[in-house]
Amino acid sequence: MFLEFDEVTLRFSGLVALKGVSLTVNEGGIFAIIGPNGAGKSTMLNCLSRIYTPQQGAIRFLGENLLRVAPDRIKACGIGRSFQNMELFSKMTVEDNLLVGYHCALPSNPFSEAVGWYKARSREREARERVQRVLESLGIASYSRQTAGNLPYGIQKKVDVGRALMGDPRLLLLDEPAAGLNELETEELGHWISDIKRAMKTTVVMIEHDMNLVMSISDRIAVLDFGELIAVGTPVEIRQDERVIRAYLGQ
Ligand code: ADP
Ligand code: MG
Repeated sequence: MFLEFDEVTLRFSGLVALKGVSLTVNEGGIFAIIGPNGAGKSTMLNCLSRIYTPQQGAIRFLGENLLRVAPDRIKACGIGRSFQNMELFSKMTVEDNLLVGYHCALPSNPFSEAVGWYKARSREREARERVQRVLESLGIASYSRQTAGNLPYGIQKKVDVGRALMGDPRLLLLDEPAAGLNELETEELGHWISDIKRAMKTTVVMIEHDMNLVMSISDRIAVLDFGELIAVGTPVEIRQDERVIRAYLGQ
């Protein structure tokens, strides 16, 4: 099994943000999580990236219980993420923002201190080549030397995703990638998320409110409502699900 939530429950003092959520995600597709505001969508991603720890249940990724993995090891496990509110280093160049993503994903151990000059140099070259590849795959290679904070919002969002891709993740987590984008940019985003899936062989789990985008690119969709998983299925199944229409789509 690629990814599995097994009866995951998470409480914030009185509030139950996730109520025994169980679902599985297969490798290779685009899996969307939808639902009203406050349903627990970001909380699910935050559990996956070990920002939050559920009180009950397990999350298994490639057979390993992620809840036993230290938060700073998540990237090395093959999980990359973007954030709902981008946290780019605004004074740094696009290239340097991605290099930070790369170095954070490297497994560190006591012996890495002993890597010689030559190895460090070749690793640096490898990192810069990867930056170029990732920027090209996102169509933003021409911005590589520009200061991130000065770029249009849509480009900054791509830089944020690019940073998450630097660790060559097997699983990419996107929290509302289309938020703040116009219709054209959203359509373009759909194309490049599909491209990322193909070109980088990355499985994508994304939270998204734009239903056109969700329905057009997702292989499967999970619907959350008040911390409960109320449906999982293909776009066609989800569109016709009575409970989903009542809780979310009918709004
Ligand atoms: P969504 O992303 O679906 O809009 P969230 O996962 O952000 O929803 O939030 C689910 C619920 O948990 C909300 O009621 C939210 O207020 C609450 N919540 C999220 N994070 C925290 C936190 N760090 N402390 C307390 N409550 C939180
Ligand atoms: Mg959210």
